[in-house]
Amino acid sequence: MANPRDQIITLPTPSLRRHSKKVGLVDKSITRIINNMQAALLDWEASREHEVGVALAAIQINQSLRIVIIRNDFNNKEDRTYTIFINPTITKYEGNIEEDFEGCLSVKDIYGKVPRYTKIKVKAQNLNGKEFRVTADGFLARTFQHEIDHTNGVLFVDHIKDNSEAFFKLNDEGNLEQLDDKDIQNHHIFR
Ligand SMILES: [Zn+2]
Repeated sequence: MANPRDQIITLPTPSLRRHSKKVGLVDKSITRIINNMQAALLDWEASREHEVGVALAAIQINQSLRIVIIRNDFNNKEDRTYTIFINPTITKYEGNIEEDFEGCLSVKDIYGKVPRYTKIKVKAQNLNGKEFRVTADGFLARTFQHEIDHTNGVLFVDHIKDNSEAFFKLNDEGNLEQLDDKDIQNHHIFR
């Protein structure tokens, strides 16, 4: 494989729709998958001019396991550290539902304005199998909802598929613009 980012699968690959399996013991094969996830995400980021590699779920490198990695500092591209969440689940939804932009490494060139809860509680396990809990709000809460959706075979486009006005693309200047009728006709997501 030429680049680590080539491991990333995109729609319409059917395995993205699968429910990922729960992780049992964290052995060498699991840590190898996590290392591959991080390498793929950082390599993808290095190939993009305007975007940061915020998070990744294992199914996005075609490993059907409930593992998510999320960047520790969204605003600092120099900080390339991630937190690992094994078997993450949302235990509580709080706050309001708000719409904001989301992209996905598995949905090429399409962005969406997606409704999500503004605050959630998550429980997960760390590499030692120890359970920990996180309360997240704002963009981190959105990221958790997007990534945990992946472990259940759901993509952001599924939340907005009946609303073509919620779909956007990145132009050459790095700004988001709404898809026009031609874009929508040509894109497999709408077929
Ligand atoms: Zn995604």
